[in-house]
Amino acid sequence: MTIHAIQTGSVRIKQSQVRGRGRGLIRRLHVFSDPHWTDWLPTYAWLIDHPEGIIVVDTGQGTHLLDGVKSMHPYLRWEVRFRINPEEEIGPRLRALGVAARDVRRVVLTHLHIDHDGGLAHFPDSEILVSRQELRAARGWTGPVRGYFPSRWPTWFNPTALDFAAEPFGPFGMSTRLTRAGDVVAVATPGHTGGHLSVVVVANGIRYVIAGDASYTEADMLAGQLDGVSVNDALAHATLGNLKQLASERPTVYLPTHDPESGIRLSNRRLAAIPHYETTR
Ligand SMILES: [Zn+2]
Repeated sequence: MTIHAIQTGSVRIKQSQVRGRGRGLIRRLHVFSDPHWTDWLPTYAWLIDHPEGIIVVDTGQGTHLLDGVKSMHPYLRWEVRFRINPEEEIGPRLRALGVAARDVRRVVLTHLHIDHDGGLAHFPDSEILVSRQELRAARGWTGPVRGYFPSRWPTWFNPTALDFAAEPFGPFGMSTRLTRAGDVVAVATPGHTGGHLSVVVVANGIRYVIAGDASYTEADMLAGQLDGVSVNDALAHATLGNLKQLASERPTVYLPTHDPESGIRLSNRRLAAIPHYETTR
């Protein structure tokens, strides 16, 4: 089994979206008043080449996001900038790796933000999995307020709702196996969005955590740093604590979507920098 990092363009957001300031609603409003932008950050999707079939985690950005500057939605218009060429979308990126999108058995979405579901159009023949809670939030009338844009989904989009079973995985009380072998597992990592999930791949004694936006960087996860958009402070803190606990139990490579180090961390199998006293406890 191999994992590939697939960069689908890049994104700039406000610094206070990466590192939240204050709590609750104040923290979320700071994103809109912050004049400071991040550098261009990568937007990764992930290919898991598994003997039971190819799994893709997240679909990245699409060129349709470039028209966001004309949107009436305040976040799309003022708080985010995308950069992507057609050949950087996930379909062409997979082809360059010798994989046809129709050969992808399953697509798992960590959550339904536009830079994660932006490449869905390439996967009309794949089974698409989204946590049930995330689907409900995105489809509800408050969807656009919460940062979801169902109007941009392909018309055929009809994902399978993913439920978590009472099967503990590390510090996570609930999980769902995505392979019969049990070496690819989804765990609930709510916070950034209410139904956010992460995918853990276990290979050669290493846990590879495809973390979506559970945190923007590994350092922020280790520091327990909330982002600026998480919907619930307590949930987000609990998730960051669980991820850190997971990484302190076994050798772990931590792979958030927008961490500039994620690609190199995967190719070098660089383990999460947990302080020594925590790994030996
Ligand atoms: Zn997100």
